[in-house]
Amino acid sequence: MLELDRVVSGYGSIRALHGVSLNVPRGSIVTVLGANGAGKSTLLRVVSGLLPIWGGDLKWEGRWMTKKSTREMVRSGVAHCPEGRQIFPLLTVYENLQMGGYLREDRKTVKRSMDQVFSFFPRLKERAKQRAGTLSGGEQQMLAIGRSLMSHPRLLLLDEPSLGIAPKLVQEIFGILRVIQEEGTAVLLVEQNARLALQLADYAYVLELGRVVIEGTGSELAKDSRVEERYFGVR
Ligand code: ATP
Repeated sequence: MLELDRVVSGYGSIRALHGVSLNVPRGSIVTVLGANGAGKSTLLRVVSGLLPIWGGDLKWEGRWMTKKSTREMVRSGVAHCPEGRQIFPLLTVYENLQMGGYLREDRKTVKRSMDQVFSFFPRLKERAKQRAGTLSGGEQQMLAIGRSLMSHPRLLLLDEPSLGIAPKLVQEIFGILRVIQEEGTAVLLVEQNARLALQLADYAYVLELGRVVIEGTGSELAKDSRVEERYFGVR
């Protein structure tokens, strides 16, 4: 469904991706592991159209999207949930979710998406009228994911959802990712917690300095001694 073919990108004169090829099949969970600075967030920015592609190609649902904008990517079913959550702290939970549905004109579909988000995250429903800044870190992460789901994406780009969150809520969020997948949304997940990500992922890639150095199914990589050595430090 998503196909990257030798994609090159970066910032100004800095090259951060040196020809990355990767696939996300329909409805699957694919994870990208790697140390800080490996290019994981850059990769997600390229897919959502936030960064231009300097070389190589990107194909999404059978169409070449190499030169598309973020707006076009969102319209075509891709949603990006960035690292650090970036919710609007002074707006309520409800209002934050409404912002996620901004490209949809039809009120009924917005309402339906909101109900679905509340079914994934009942905590958000309980706190709908609360200002988002008063939520715990884990709840803010749920809100950020919920907001991304408001555009009813077929692909969710998720950057470091476990960062700075209590383990219990991390488990809850990862459990919901499985449900989101079962509802038909594929997930491209960037995650520091390699052990957890590999348990969930159908397929995984390891990035080093902007290049894919290892790839395989989640269970293959979970058994790979190179992955264990380098990335199982974080629990
Ligand atoms: P982290 O988990 O630390 O975010 P990452 O794997 O997501 O790591 P990226 O953030 O994609 O890594 O960074 C890849 C490379 O691009 C790094 O060398 C980084 O310094 C550089 N880089 C990232 N963002 C910018 C930016 N806004 N301007 C210039 N260089 C950047």
